[in-house]
Amino acid sequence: ELYNKVLELKGNIRVFCRCRPLNDEEVAAGASMALDFESAKDGELTVMSNGAPKRTFKFDNVFGPQADQVDVFEETAPLATSVLDGYNVCIFAYGQTGTGKTFTMEGTKEARGVNFRALEQLFRIINERQNLYRYDISVSVLEVYNEQIRDLLVSGTQPGMAAKRLEVRQVGERMHHVPGLVEAHVNNINEAWEVLQTGSNARTVGSTNANERSSRSHCIHCVMVKGENLMSGECTKSKLWLVDLAGSERVAKTEVQGERLKETQNINRSLSALGDVISALATKSPHIPFRNSKLTHLLQDSLGGDSKTLMFVQISPNENDLGETLCSLNFASRVR
Ligand code: ADP
Ligand code: MG
Repeated sequence: ELYNKVLELKGNIRVFCRCRPLNDEEVAAGASMALDFESAKDGELTVMSNGAPKRTFKFDNVFGPQADQVDVFEETAPLATSVLDGYNVCIFAYGQTGTGKTFTMEGTKEARGVNFRALEQLFRIINERQNLYRYDISVSVLEVYNEQIRDLLVSGTQPGMAAKRLEVRQVGERMHHVPGLVEAHVNNINEAWEVLQTGSNARTVGSTNANERSSRSHCIHCVMVKGENLMSGECTKSKLWLVDLAGSERVAKTEVQGERLKETQNINRSLSALGDVISALATKSPHIPFRNSKLTHLLQDSLGGDSKTLMFVQISPNENDLGETLCSLNFASRVR
């Protein structure tokens, strides 16, 4: 409850910027950093040009290359776990391919990301509250690729196959539903993680290049929470969406044709639709253009109102990536 007071004071849309470290190849190639993290603790990030400060961006949090998964989750946990208090929450990772979107959300076995830590924390709190509340948790895993929604918990589906195309249906005011989407009931973190892994595996089956594919689609985990207050009998239903977005890098139109061009256009369209929606929400615009992409349509009930949104803007420290980095930082400033 205390967490939520703090969240309300800060508003419902949060932007965290995270920069990955230079990797071994970059270090070996003598790559230089174009970013200054001196004021990161104040949420500031300065872009340098020829050794001089060029522009300073301000975010709710800035995580430099030294920040680890624990540091990041510490700031993310209050928002993620507010789903147990009946809030809808969306957490996105946005950025150029290779900047750490999957690292932040999924992480690795050695360095678990937000998805695992959030679920682990949810089950810990559920356990602590068992005398006061009863909770029911289920999870779904989906992918939005080329403006098509695919259920990754349905076995036997192959990437690119439109055998089971899911659609978003409106069933009431601020109530949308995806008929046929598998919702797997889970009782603990191990069961939950197993289901999410099944989803991740389904995503890569049959694709010639798993990385390539994953950078071109949005990977979405949804945690559905039903809560019942055992004293008052009051029931809540809420969702936590964990979204690893498609790579935001711009591809020169002259370089791509056919399928690949369509793919690129769909990615651009859905990422800008997401930016439009969040910035319309931030400026309290009367019209929120949810319908402009599958992603925003799908997440509609969990964006706006008293829902909470967190966008991780992932960036590269490499001076060679500065063009894309500035695009991502500008996108993020727009939604804040
Ligand atoms: P994306 O999903 O945005 O394409 P990845 O998450 O796959 O990027 O990250 C690219 C590479 O950089 C991976 O090998 C990943 O483990 C590594 N990496 C990303 N962020 C970090 C970080 N903060 N600390 C250490 N390694 C990182
Ligand atoms: Mg990735």
